[in-house]
Amino acid sequence: MSDGPQLATTRADLAAARALMRGPVVLAPTMGALHDGHARLLGAARTLAGPPGSVIVSIFVNPLQFGPNEDLDRYPRTLDADLAICARERADLVFAPTAAEMYPGGRPEVTVDPGLAGQRFEGEFRPGFFGGVLTVVLKLLHLTRPAIAVFGQKDAQQLALVRRMITDLNLDVVIEPVPTVRDPDGLAISSRNRYLSAADRAVALALPRALLAGHAAARGGADAVLAAARGVLAVQPALDVDYAALVDPGTFGPAAPGPALLVAAARAGRTRLIDNVALVLPAEGAGDAAHH
Ligand code: AMP
Repeated sequence: MSDGPQLATTRADLAAARALMRGPVVLAPTMGALHDGHARLLGAARTLAGPPGSVIVSIFVNPLQFGPNEDLDRYPRTLDADLAICARERADLVFAPTAAEMYPGGRPEVTVDPGLAGQRFEGEFRPGFFGGVLTVVLKLLHLTRPAIAVFGQKDAQQLALVRRMITDLNLDVVIEPVPTVRDPDGLAISSRNRYLSAADRAVALALPRALLAGHAAARGGADAVLAAARGVLAVQPALDVDYAALVDPGTFGPAAPGPALLVAAARAGRTRLIDNVALVLPAEGAGDAAHH
């Protein structure tokens, strides 16, 4: 039985611990309030690091990615419980800095521009979000110098943009995606789910149901997928839908035949949910043929 991960709260402590670490080093960036989805992420990191390697979990609620009317102050912070989960998943080091430690000069002048794909969907509903995300991910990669970093497929647009940043800025790290973990009722697990009342949760379930219906209609083509998903959403008007769309998994532009993502975001009560499902769209015309 190990006695749990080492905790570093300053860049200096992180650098000292990192210098002694054995590779491969795997980084799992999080905002804390860890749940079973994060546990899967940490488990994947542990497997990728192997017995000789090291797992670093970062826990940082990044102010740069929250809009002025978002839930920065309300975001759950549960460090003791998080450390217990990191111990259970055999992480070696937890880096949990303060905002002042990450941004000693306040808001940084120089940030990462997420480009066109960062303005679509989440970027449209949360202006500045992906610039904040990519900036902190880049900083964390520099501070921890991992061989591998793990990201959840639940945040598919974030995953796509991180990969694009790695390519466009020539970063020397492998990005490993981790499948979305769901509760038994189908809802993708999220730190924000704890704000859902029982009634909100019943409303929220229309989101995974819509994705499932869209997925089941994939052989009928793009129009059939969207009609099926929107049909499910329409019977739950209490769910306030920001978007439901079929996109190319890399660019988040319009989907083409082949691998695609059905992405959706909606609000149940005051809680905003995002989710997605991967599917394969048939070649042009094949969808119509499937109906005859
Ligand atoms: P967060 O703490 O919400 O910023 O998430 C940290 C990482 O965990 C991100 O890469 C997320 O995509 C991933 N993650 C969050 N929820 C889940 C889930 N339900 N299943 C798998 N990965 C998740």
